[in-house]
Amino acid sequence: MKRVKGCLNCECNEYKKTYYKESDEFCVRCGTKLNYVCKHPKCFKQIPDDVRETYCPVHIAERKDKQEKRVEAAKKVGSGVLAVGGVITIGKAAVDIARKK
Ligand SMILES: [Zn+2]
Ligand SMILES: [Zn+2]
Repeated sequence: MKRVKGCLNCECNEYKKTYYKESDEFCVRCGTKLNYVCKHPKCFKQIPDDVRETYCPVHIAERKDKQEKRVEAAKKVGSGVLAVGGVITIGKAAVDIARKK
């Protein structure tokens, strides 16, 4: 996951709006030195240089949570596929019969 930088000058137009590349050093608009920021669109919280994360701790936790839920959902879907497949087949047959009439 690539880290992003942002302008933390709250009076700047790029503040909470523009994500800079890691290689960028300064804000193109106001010249403020860029800091690593949380990639969450509504967060933009500064992340210390020595923390090699793309998101702030809050959003790391949130994303982990979501990922776990997604895995669980995928497991549920996986076991439900056969049942759903059966319904679709039956449904299609019914449609075919209806069309022939
Ligand atoms: Zn700026
Ligand atoms: Zn965040």
